[in-house]
Amino acid sequence: MEQKTRNTNEQPTAQTIRIAGTEVELHPAHPVRFACMEHVDQEIDEYVDQFEAAPDTYRAEEVEGGPLDKRCRVCGAEGKIALLRVKGM
Ligand SMILES: [Zn+2]
Repeated sequence: MEQKTRNTNEQPTAQTIRIAGTEVELHPAHPVRFACMEHVDQEIDEYVDQFEAAPDTYRAEEVEGGPLDKRCRVCGAEGKIALLRVKGM
């Protein structure tokens, strides 16, 4: 029983973040990425290419929690839009 608990904890469990104050579970295979306004379309295209799923988009300032690097992946500027996939959606 103790062993069971330990094994569960060692699993790379899905990341949980908060969006606009609501806790959501992320799809484990789909990371959170950020893009500036200029590169958001490009990043969405890349996300679709890599993960074969269109990301949900949120304003970066509404997304909290986890070790999130809120910089645009393309140019390194401040990310304005978060691209992610909420589990079950
Ligand atoms: Zn950018």
